[in-house]
Amino acid sequence: MQNIYGMTRAKLEEYFTSLGEKKFKALQVFEWLYQKKNNDVNTWSNIKKTIQENILKDFSFTMPKIVRQERDTLTRKFLFLLYDQNYIEAVVMYHDYGISVCVSSQVGCNMGCAFCESGRLKKVRNLETFEMVCQILLIEENIKERISSVVIMGIGEPLDNFANVMDFIHIINDAKGLAIGIRHITLSTSGIIPKIDELKNMDLQINLAISLHAPNDEIRNRIMKVNKVYNISQLINTIKSYIAHTNRRVTIEYVMLKEINDSETCAIELAHLLHGMNVYVNLIPYNETNHLEFKKSDAKTISKFCETLKQNGINVTIRKEFGSKISAACGQLRSKEVER
Ligand code: SAH
Ligand code: SF4
Repeated sequence: MQNIYGMTRAKLEEYFTSLGEKKFKALQVFEWLYQKKNNDVNTWSNIKKTIQENILKDFSFTMPKIVRQERDTLTRKFLFLLYDQNYIEAVVMYHDYGISVCVSSQVGCNMGCAFCESGRLKKVRNLETFEMVCQILLIEENIKERISSVVIMGIGEPLDNFANVMDFIHIINDAKGLAIGIRHITLSTSGIIPKIDELKNMDLQINLAISLHAPNDEIRNRIMKVNKVYNISQLINTIKSYIAHTNRRVTIEYVMLKEINDSETCAIELAHLLHGMNVYVNLIPYNETNHLEFKKSDAKTISKFCETLKQNGINVTIRKEFGSKISAACGQLRSKEVER
């Protein structure tokens, strides 16, 4: 049975058409679910009894459960239990400009990046669309505030769960859904080239972030398996084509790993690689985990790397560290729970 929170408005319209009903019923259902936050179908006063019965027969309304929370001043981390006893997590961050949520897209991840806790535990399955939508709904209900932006940067590789992630984006972006502006939605990928091309052709105005993490194939092969399939020059060409087609600036993520990719030479090489492209680089201080041997670069090394990029004409910022005290790096809370 389909879960109601996994239905885009277009899919619900098809459903109502198949029942011989008017399409705009879908809009009314969206208003109940996402605006009035009422999922008690029997109280949906503008939907007649026979249709209510169909909806109850054809859709499931179950949601994941929040089973654990960790918090510090500007961050809250939520652990969710799914229907099949798997765990995923989402992180809320309070910024001056609003509240963002970092959502998971899979249980584990098969991309196998050497420094990443989510990859260490391997992919169990894709998240279903409703499991992504519910991360946001349940968090809004829990913190009693509205989420203004969403980053798909939690556990998993979103482009390895393409169809569900696209439906998720449509539902949260829908004006009658959660109405999160398309430019307030960011998707981060390790660089699956055919899927980036597919995304490009959809003409969505989301923010695309690419986990580059290295200025050359030698280093990237060591830390990201995906590079052996799609190497840096192919990836850079794909990003150039994406920018040309969408007219959107792309974010380049670069996690700062001590003595791996943080030298002055790396900074210069990175600047050459990105020269003239409409990108901005986000330097990410590495969040150390117990299981993996990687260390974070010193704060000084990070600022120097940042300066070198700037001097070479690259737009760059250092990501504010959120929640390093509460195991906020992608996959850490889940892996703690799996061990328990
Ligand atoms: N799979 C996608 C999105 C999830 S990971 C991707 O790789 O882009 C989101 C970001 O967090 C990626 O840039 C990833 O490299 C980074 N990351 C993973 N583990 C990290 C850690 N321990 N500390 C800091 N960043 C990390
Ligand atoms: Fe997967 Fe992203 Fe982690 Fe790589 S960094 S293992 S792609 S979640």
